Amino acid sequence: MSIAAPKRCKGWLQEAALLMLLNNLHPDVAERPEELIVYGGRGKAARNQEALDLIIKALEHLENDESLLIQSGKPVAILQTHEDAPRVLISNSQLVPNWATWEHFDELEKKGLMMYGQMTAGSWIYIGSQGIVQGTYETYAAVAAKHFGGSLKGTLNVTAGLGGMGGAQPLAITMNEGVALIAEVEEWRIDKRLETRYLDYKIKDLDAAIDRALEAKAKGEAISIGVHANAVHLLARLLERNVVPDTLTDQTSAHDPLIGYIPHTISLAEANQLRQSNPDAYLKLSYASMHQHVAYMLDLQKHGAITFDYGNNIRARAKEDGLENAFDFPGFVPAYIRPLFCEGKGPFRWAALSGDPADIAVTDQVIADMFPENESLQRWLKLAKERIAFQGLPARICWLGQGEREKAGLAFNELVRTGKVKAPIVIGRDHLDTGSVASPNRETEAMLDGSDAVADWPLLNALLNTAGGASWVSLHHGGGVGMGYSIHAGMVIVADGTDTAERRLARVLRNDPGIGVIRHADAGYDIAKDVARKHRLDLKEKLA
Ligand code: NAD
Repeated sequence: MSIAAPKRCKGWLQEAALLMLLNNLHPDVAERPEELIVYGGRGKAARNQEALDLIIKALEHLENDESLLIQSGKPVAILQTHEDAPRVLISNSQLVPNWATWEHFDELEKKGLMMYGQMTAGSWIYIGSQGIVQGTYETYAAVAAKHFGGSLKGTLNVTAGLGGMGGAQPLAITMNEGVALIAEVEEWRIDKRLETRYLDYKIKDLDAAIDRALEAKAKGEAISIGVHANAVHLLARLLERNVVPDTLTDQTSAHDPLIGYIPHTISLAEANQLRQSNPDAYLKLSYASMHQHVAYMLDLQKHGAITFDYGNNIRARAKEDGLENAFDFPGFVPAYIRPLFCEGKGPFRWAALSGDPADIAVTDQVIADMFPENESLQRWLKLAKERIAFQGLPARICWLGQGEREKAGLAFNELVRTGKVKAPIVIGRDHLDTGSVASPNRETEAMLDGSDAVADWPLLNALLNTAGGASWVSLHHGGGVGMGYSIHAGMVIVADGTDTAERRLARVLRNDPGIGVIRHADAGYDIAKDVARKHRLDLKEKLA
C-alpha cells in the first residue's frame, strides 16, 4: 500500500520539514511561540515572522531536486541540488571565533542579522520536554547506578529551572524513584509542568517545600516539588538548615546571563524591566548571582552532596566572575554519559507525521520487540507510555547506539511502506550526541586526549550527513552553553517508505553515530575502539 501524497509540499521531505518547523512553534511545544522561541532561553525556530512566512512559502514551492538554504533563521536561497541531497541546509549563529561573544551576537541580533538557534530549536526537531526527559532519565539512572545501588529511592535531589529542558527533571527523578525539589522563579513555568504531569506539587514557601521533601525522602516516596523561589535562595536556606541534598545540580539558563538567568537580588518583575532599561547593570547582577549560586553548590558539595553541572555552563559564568574553584564539581558528561557516547549511544528520536498517537504505539512495539535484552530501554518505553503526555506531534525518544539506530530506521521505513503507520516517520536526534558536538564545558569536557575544543568533528558530521543524504542538516554555534563555547550539528531523516529513503537511512543512520564512535576511539577510549572494530569503522583495519 503506498502512502498518500503530501498535502502542502511537492514531496514528503519538504512536507516533513514544514510540519516539524510548525511543530517546533506549536503552543503546546514552544516556550514562547509568539516570539518564535522554542526553548533554552532564546532558542528560536526562525529569525522573525517575515522569515518564518518566507520559509513556509519556500518549502511549499521547493522541488524534489532543490535545496533551501537557511542563514540564522532566514531563508536566503533555493538552489539546484539532486534528489538524494538534503532538502534544507541550515547554518545558525555562526561567528568567526574571535568575535564569538554574546556581546557581538547581541549587536547583530539587534540589527536583525542573526538568530540564536540553540540545538533543536533552529533545526526543527524539538519534540517538547520528552526529548530531554530521556536524557535526564539516563543521567539520573547512571547517578543511581554509580552512587545508590541502582535507584534514587529515599534520596533528596535538588536542582533549579523548570523551563523547556529543565522541566524534564522532576519526571526523570521520580521515574528513578527519588524525591525532586526544584526552584523556579517564574510561577507559570511551574504551572505548565503541573499541567503536563511532569511535576507533582507546587509549594510557594521555602521551608514548607523543604519539609515536604524531607518527609517524602524519609518515607521513600517518589514525588516532585516545584518551589516558587530563586535557586540561590533555596540553596541558602538548605545551608542555613543544614539540609544536605543527596544530589545537586542546576538547569537555569545560565548559558545566557542576560536573557536566561534571573539574579536573586531582584524580583522577576524588576529583572524584566532592568534587562531592557540597563542591560549592563543586569549583567553585573546576573554574574554576581551565578557566582553566589556556584559558591553555595560547592559548599553543599563539601557537606556531601553529589554535585554536577547539568550542561548550562554555570561554572564558567562563576569563574568569569572570579570564583577560581568553580570547576571543582564535574560536568554530567564525563561523570555519567561518556561511556554511552563511546558505544555510539545518544538521543535517537522520531515523530509521527500523521499526528496519530497510534502510529507511535506501533513504533514503540517495534523497538520493544527489536531490543528485548535491553532492560533500561524496556523500562523506559513502559514508563514513557504511562507518564509522558505528547506535546504537538506524537513522538518518542530512546537512546540507541551504533547498529541499533540503523536497524530501527529501516524498520520504520518498512512500517511506512507496508501501511502499518498512516504517514511517514521523521527521525532525528539532539545535537547533544556522540559525534556531533564540540563543547569543552559539556559534551567534550575532559576528553582523554585533551581534544575538548577540537571542532573538526561536528563539521565533519554535518558534511557527512549532507553527503549521505539526510533530509535536513544543520550546523550551529553556542547551543546549550552559549556563544563561543560550542559548535554542533544536527540531522533529520525522513522514512517515507520508498526505496531511495531506505538507502539514505542505511547510510545516514550508520554514519551519524559512527563518527561519534570514531571520534571517541581516536581520543583513546577502549570501549569506542572495540565498538569501532565490531562495526567495521576502524580505518587501519579497513586498510589492512
Ligand atoms: P529555559 O530558558 O526554557 O528555562 C530556564 C528556567 O530557569 C526558566 O524557567 C527560568 O525562569 C528559570 N530561572 C532562571 N534563573 C533562575 C534562578 N536564578 N532561580 C530559579 N529559576 C531560574 O531553558 P531550558 O531549555 O530549560 O534550559 C536550561 C539550561 O539547561 C540551559 O542553559 C540549557 O542550555 C541547559 N541544557 C542542558 C541540557 C543537558 O543535556 N544537560 C540540555 C539542554 C539544555
